[in-house]
Amino acid sequence: MNKDLEQLVQLSKYDVAITEFEPKIANENAKLEVFLKTADTLNSQIEDLYKVIDDNKNKRIKNDIHLKELAGKLAEILEKGKVVKTEREVKALQLEEEIAKEQVSFANDEIVRLDDLTVAKEEELKELKEKLVEEEESVKEIQESVGKVIEELEVARADVSKHRTQLFEKVDKKVLTFYEKIRRWAKETAVVPVRKQACYGCHMKITDRIYYEFITSDDIKTCPHCGRIIYKDDSAEA
Ligand SMILES: [Zn+2]
Repeated sequence: MNKDLEQLVQLSKYDVAITEFEPKIANENAKLEVFLKTADTLNSQIEDLYKVIDDNKNKRIKNDIHLKELAGKLAEILEKGKVVKTEREVKALQLEEEIAKEQVSFANDEIVRLDDLTVAKEEELKELKEKLVEEEESVKEIQESVGKVIEELEVARADVSKHRTQLFEKVDKKVLTFYEKIRRWAKETAVVPVRKQACYGCHMKITDRIYYEFITSDDIKTCPHCGRIIYKDDSAEA
């Protein structure tokens, strides 16, 4: 193979390898992100539960106060009962007492309901807190493993970059300009193999005449269909 082409094939392989690191790193970070999000959701669920429990307790306090007021009122009615004279006054007082007792009963029911609800919510809170502890442990583990993988990827990337730079300096400048020009649109497929007489960039068949020219010539050739730099991939055809 032409030496320039040989260098281009290698350079392109380095370039492909370098671009592949970014999605690999992003993929690792995405793994961690899933766990962080779950922990976030648990945290906000816990916060919401605290608010509900607080709200319940406040409602219970209000009912307690209301019950005290009602007790005072009932005592008042009892006192009034000792001094009322007419039947009309007695009936009015009875009605007042009935209403107050109904309110007492309602407040008591409400307290029972609120207490039950608080117990249930506190149980729910306990479970969520346990889940959060587990999740945070998983986050820690995944953080460590992701951190390790990313570190390894960074080392590998630096290594490839170093090799690329070394090679880059050796490649003929004109050949390099040609490569960069194609790479601008073809990205990672600027230099592609020809297998089974087809370009591996555009997958189009190359005519016999051009193919013959391609395998017999030592010049750098481009695909007649897409313009990518092509090379004969001996390893795959063997
Ligand atoms: Zn092509």
